[in-house]
Amino acid sequence: MVSEPNQGRVGWPKTFDSCPNCGEIKTLTDELKAEEVAAGKIRETTHIALLVAHTLIADPGMIDKTLSVPAIISAWDACAACGTLYVKHAHIQSVMRQGPGGINNLKL
Ligand SMILES: [Zn+2]
Repeated sequence: MVSEPNQGRVGWPKTFDSCPNCGEIKTLTDELKAEEVAAGKIRETTHIALLVAHTLIADPGMIDKTLSVPAIISAWDACAACGTLYVKHAHIQSVMRQGPGGINNLKL
């Protein structure tokens, strides 16, 4: 079971449209994506990230006592001009505990 993204939290989701170091808007994946779109291999609307991180906000000593924990799902990319790695998009999602110790219902 997956809850509504961001759970009504103010300020979420977070989107960063340019490099925090130099201000460039193109990323490494933008460059290759453009080539693949031009070749008709992927759609323009396809979301691609260099890295995706699922960060559980939980206390390992208490996780067995909770049915769900919040997680930050973040999509990272690198600046095409200077290589700075930065978060492009992040949202909050509640993930449910399934089975012994397992949390496996993350959704992008
Ligand atoms: Zn940059």
